[in-house]
Amino acid sequence: MGQGGARTQMGKPDEMTAVARLEAVQGQVAAAAKAANRSEDATTLIAVSKTFDADHIEPVLAAGHRDFGENRVQEAHGKWPDLKVKYPATKLHLIGPLQSNKTKEAVELFDAIHSIDRPKIARTVGQEMARQGRTLELFVQVNTGEEPQKAGVMPADVKSFVDQCRTEFGLTIQGLMCIPPADEEPAIHFAFLAKLAGDCGVQGLSMGMSGDFETAIRFGASHVRVGSAIFGARG
Ligand SMILES: *Cc1c(COP(=O)(O)O)cnc(C)c1O
Repeated sequence: MGQGGARTQMGKPDEMTAVARLEAVQGQVAAAAKAANRSEDATTLIAVSKTFDADHIEPVLAAGHRDFGENRVQEAHGKWPDLKVKYPATKLHLIGPLQSNKTKEAVELFDAIHSIDRPKIARTVGQEMARQGRTLELFVQVNTGEEPQKAGVMPADVKSFVDQCRTEFGLTIQGLMCIPPADEEPAIHFAFLAKLAGDCGVQGLSMGMSGDFETAIRFGASHVRVGSAIFGARG
C-alpha cells in the first residue's frame, strides 16, 4: 500500500501515527499467519475505532484499510455514515452489545454483527435484514469464561442457539466470537472457541485483541479486533 515514506517512520508507539501502527500490526498479522502455516488473508484485521473521531479514522481509510469495528451503535452513527459515503467499500463491524431497540439502526449501518447472544436479538436482526433487504455477517458471542457480568451465550448452550438461529430465524451464522477473561490465558479460550465452532459447524472465529491477536491467529482466528495497538490508548 505505501505512498511515500513519511508514515512508515518509526518511533515510540505514542509518537507513531495510526497508519504507521496499522502497518506494524499488519506485519505482525502476516508473520503470525506464516508461523502458523496459515494464509495471510485467512484473517481479517478489524481496526477498532471506538472512542476515536472521524479525524483519527480517516487517515486509516485513506491508507486503504476497510474493516473497522465499533462497540456502540449510537457512537458509530455519529461518525460513520459520512465516512461510508466517502469510502463505500468500508466494512463496519459491530463488536459490542446490541439492544433490540437499536436493531434497525444497526442493520442500516453495520455490515457485520459479532455480538448475537440471545433469541430476541437474533429474531429482530433477521426481521430487519429481511425488511431492509440487507445481509450482514453474523457471529454468535460466547461467554467462554462463564463470567456473570459478561455478555454471550454460555458454552453449553451454543450449539442449540446456533441451530435455533438457523432453523427458527433463518439466519446464516458465520462464526463465533469471544472476549476471554482478562486474568486468564487467552490461548485456552481461543482453543475452546475453535472447538465449539467445530461442534456447531461454523467456520468463523472472531477472537484476539491488541494484546493477544497473534495467539488468536495461531488458534485459527478468522477476524482479529485490534484497537489500541492501531489507534493508541483510549482516553
Ligand atoms: C475495544 C474492543 C476491542 C479492541 O480492544 P484493544 O485491546 O484496544 O485492541 C476488541 N473487541 C471488543 C469486543 C472491544 O470492545
